[in-house]
Amino acid sequence: MKKMGMCPICNGFKTIIPECPNCSGSMENNGREADFYDDYSPYMPIDQMKLEDGYPHDFAKGKCPHLFKCTNCGSSQVYLIKE
Ligand SMILES: [Zn+2]
Ligand SMILES: [Zn+2]
Repeated sequence: MKKMGMCPICNGFKTIIPECPNCSGSMENNGREADFYDDYSPYMPIDQMKLEDGYPHDFAKGKCPHLFKCTNCGSSQVYLIKE
């Protein structure tokens, strides 16, 4: 069981549309990463999101993993959203 944080996406405060690393298309939020994977966590650095908080490897606190899927090429990517 995971507690709900103050993630702006989970709380509906804002929409984030990252650029696809594959084709530069628009990626859409497919929900929380935890809703899709239990054991497999393909985390990547979030510098593409330009969320520079100085803790790129700290996944335990204040980060909400969201799965984004490219509407163009269909590739998916997990981004850690700062809460
Ligand atoms: Zn979230
Ligand atoms: Zn793409």
